[in-house]
Amino acid sequence: MFAPYCPIHGSRVLLFAENLIAIDSTPRGWTLRFRCDCGYTGTCEVNRREMIAA
Ligand SMILES: [Zn+2]
Repeated sequence: MFAPYCPIHGSRVLLFAENLIAIDSTPRGWTLRFRCDCGYTGTCEVNRREMIAA
């Protein structure tokens, strides 16, 4: 799971794999495309170090 910022909620929200639309690789890690429970669709960057720490 991951916790991107959602402007509709006005805070970070905890999302799960079912909220993931797509994952794109970048040189530093990944860009996650997600849909929040409120309907907001956005992206968040995750770098490899964070992913390993989690
Ligand atoms: Zn939301």
